[in-house]
Amino acid sequence: MFSVAIDGPAGAGKSTIAKTAAKKLGFIYVDTGALYRAVGLACLRKGISTDDKDEITVLIGEISVELVYIDGEQRVLLDGEDVSEKIRTEDVSMAASVVSKIPEVRMFLLELQRGFSRTNDIIMDGRDIGTVVLPGAQVKIFLTASPESRADRRTLQLREKGESVDREAILNDIIKRDYQDTHRKTAPLRAAEDAHIIDTTQLTLEESVEAVMKCIREGMSGK
Ligand code: C5P
Repeated sequence: MFSVAIDGPAGAGKSTIAKTAAKKLGFIYVDTGALYRAVGLACLRKGISTDDKDEITVLIGEISVELVYIDGEQRVLLDGEDVSEKIRTEDVSMAASVVSKIPEVRMFLLELQRGFSRTNDIIMDGRDIGTVVLPGAQVKIFLTASPESRADRRTLQLREKGESVDREAILNDIIKRDYQDTHRKTAPLRAAEDAHIIDTTQLTLEESVEAVMKCIREGMSGK
């Protein structure tokens, strides 16, 4: 099986780029952020504070989180309910970033993520895929971009969906999430030593996909 690990901060374009590359290669795309978002949503629904480690540790013993593929598209199930759309709010983004600090939450989701790589050729995106989840991935990529350009893209994306958004608030959320993700003790966001680093600030989507495909093709040809 062939595994590609793509890590990087929120809004660097990981999911769009990984999804496009996976389609070109006929690989399965695994968005691991959706798993942390499902746990974040479960906390919000149960009224548990995302800082309450003890309650959250109990919660993860009670909930089920699954990833399923319908017509090649990933869906995330929380206790059997398809919550793929409900996890895409700013509240859930922030909750996911806070719960993902908890080592028990990371352990809870680890096997689920690794399982996919045993039976499928995959492109998996997240924060710790190249460093922790799939340290043996044949290709590792760290995708990044300036916070300002990530905020611009996210603002545009939400506006296209018809949501009224405040770009400054989005930028502040991105900076806060970056801080939380890079400063946590367990599996912080960082590039693996053997990762290709791609900065997409000045690249179009097509150019970013091409840069990623180039790394993957080289990896597949054993270069
Ligand atoms: O990628 P996405 O923005 O959907 O991830 C939501 C949050 O989940 C991130 O801010 C991060 O804190 C957490 N996450 C993580 N490890 C991953 C994927 C996501 O800690 N592999």
